[in-house]
Amino acid sequence: MTERALLGHQPRKRFGQHFLHDQGVIAGIVQALAPVPGEALVEIGPGLGALTAPVLQHGGHLTVIELDRALAQRLQQHAVWANRLTVIQQDVLTVDFKALAQQRGEPLRLFGNLPYNISTPLLFTLFEQAAHIQDMHWMLQAEVVDRLVAKPGSKAYGRLSVLTQYYCQVGYLFPVPASAFQPPPKVLSAVVRLTPHRQPPYPVAAPQALQQICRVAFNQRRKTLRNSLRELLTAPQLLALGIDPTLRAENLTLEQYCRLANHLALQPSNISS
Ligand code: SAM
Repeated sequence: MTERALLGHQPRKRFGQHFLHDQGVIAGIVQALAPVPGEALVEIGPGLGALTAPVLQHGGHLTVIELDRALAQRLQQHAVWANRLTVIQQDVLTVDFKALAQQRGEPLRLFGNLPYNISTPLLFTLFEQAAHIQDMHWMLQAEVVDRLVAKPGSKAYGRLSVLTQYYCQVGYLFPVPASAFQPPPKVLSAVVRLTPHRQPPYPVAAPQALQQICRVAFNQRRKTLRNSLRELLTAPQLLALGIDPTLRAENLTLEQYCRLANHLALQPSNISS
């Protein structure tokens, strides 16, 4: 992409602005999304419209959430697209997705090439609103996607893996080189599909308990569970739940974390948010 193709816009580092220009990657994302007119599509961080335009070419209406006032204004005033766009100029971390879904009368289909500096907090925020989301297609830092899909026993397996897999079915789609962006980021990227479970595979009565147990266990991931979880559960309690206290956080499956969370939820005084 040339400077000219950035339409005179000076990319802002603090907004994580890396604009997609690789047509193959753009087509791959739109194909994975497979937008259908009438769906409640919402793009996070449309920027200069690299994904916005081809999605609109499939017809229908699109809501976009863009923090950069200048970029939001461009879209609002766009000669061709403006009347098919609802532009929300706001920090996505403060958006009420439940209200958006209620306005549209159906769960949302979210997508975007996310600013990498907010991607993890955004995912945690969205998981809490998962009941209002049909699916999500994200471009993320490859290292974050590795964590989303990681299985027990791997280095990438952590709190983000357990909570993502509790809330969503996760599908790795494809890797994206830095050269697909202007300016190129310093890291590799990848595209992932997250589909919130309608019925979680292992229901947890109090999701805060799951969040807490993951936070405490992975904060000291090198320690055995007997030590890392000592404030929450004793070794005999772990054994009674069928969990070996000499294991480490990275060895437990999602099902085992859910079992621990359900036990913790029986003693609500132990749960902190
Ligand atoms: N979608 C465009 C593309 O693929 O070329 C731009 C992607 S760029 C990586 C991220 C976009 O998110 C930028 O347009 C940036 O201004 C916007 N953004 C950054 N932080 C944001 C936030 N907190 N809320 C909403 N948008 C944000």
